[in-house]
Amino acid sequence: MNKINSKLPNIPQSIFSVMSQLAKSHNAINLSQGFPDFNCSEELISLVSKYQKLGLNQYAPMHGVPELLTGISDKVKSLYKKYYDPFNEIIITSGATEAIFIAISTLVSPGDEVILLEPAYDSYAPTVILNGGIPIFVPLSKTNFTVRFDLLKSKITNRTKAIIVNSPHNPTGSIISESDIKNFEEITRDKNIFFISDEVYEHILFDGNKHISFCSSEELSEKTFVISSFGKTYHTTGWKVGYCAAPQKMIAEFEKIHQFVVFSVNTPVQYAYAEYIKDEQKYLHLNEFYQQKRDIFLRTISKSKFKFTPARSTYFQLLDYSDISELDDITFASRLTEKYKIATIPLSPFYSSRYNEKLIRICFAKRDKVLIEAGEILNTIEHL
Ligand code: PMP
Ligand code: GLN
Repeated sequence: MNKINSKLPNIPQSIFSVMSQLAKSHNAINLSQGFPDFNCSEELISLVSKYQKLGLNQYAPMHGVPELLTGISDKVKSLYKKYYDPFNEIIITSGATEAIFIAISTLVSPGDEVILLEPAYDSYAPTVILNGGIPIFVPLSKTNFTVRFDLLKSKITNRTKAIIVNSPHNPTGSIISESDIKNFEEITRDKNIFFISDEVYEHILFDGNKHISFCSSEELSEKTFVISSFGKTYHTTGWKVGYCAAPQKMIAEFEKIHQFVVFSVNTPVQYAYAEYIKDEQKYLHLNEFYQQKRDIFLRTISKSKFKFTPARSTYFQLLDYSDISELDDITFASRLTEKYKIATIPLSPFYSSRYNEKLIRICFAKRDKVLIEAGEILNTIEHL
């Protein structure tokens, strides 16, 4: 029997797949993996079929269809005051996941260090490792999950090639501030350090908070791959379309890898987004839409034994179960699924050390009645 030498020997199956499968097998309400349980707009669906019927069903250009590239460039300019040349500085990718994979692959050579802020989204570290890089983990502050710049600065060495930042942040909902941007500028000034800024939840912030894109800083935009995804913004996570924007020289290297990974991305979907993206009303109300869902859920569980601080962004809410159970978070989440039919995501897989702080993440991108039903079940839990 031939043998494969695993490139990722210590990486388990993604917790998102594990919990979604567990939810299915126990017929549980799935608040684990982040995706809406309601449909995207009929208009968007009609646009995809319109372009399919028009015969736009063959390969798109490698960077993306010109109409969508232009649409993204216009949108970014209007929101963040940064102009990216649509034809040389933006590439449409197969979801943000591909963009993250390629951005890391573009930057990282064997022995390079990449700083990851923990808790961290699950795809960053394995991709660094696949490229022979060394992930350097820097924890966010324990109290409010903000960046600890003194600690971050102390981890920078002459082998540091990149820092990966995710704001709005999955899983904690923390967001970077103007002063964080200044700090990022300062600690990397005159150093050969790049940024990958994962901004997929850029339109989901609450309580009047505003998204600050890395591209809004002239200094940082010169060394950042800014990544976003249409999946979160238009309730279409299954269509897997995202993009990456960066200065021309960075995109030129990114393109070399992108062409051999997917070459190009779903054509009719790109045309549909290109038409849809022109209407800002389609994304500017997402904040209110999800804030209402967060509030419905939190109101429902306000008398439960779970403790929480309302999420500031994203469609995720952390719940502290330390008054309910002594179990580790993976066991707790499994038992919650099996016994109470509520699937959630334990937080420890977001830490390289599998640090356990008795937190679970729930996704509130669900119909209101599902959020209330789930909340009422959570209210009944005294001990687990
Ligand atoms: N980054 C973060 C922080 C995410 O939460 C996700 C997906 N939920 C992605 C990247 C991947 O996005 P996509 O589904 O567009 O690949
Ligand atoms: N990003 C989504 C989450 O955090 C899941 C995406 C995936 O399943 N890879 O739940």
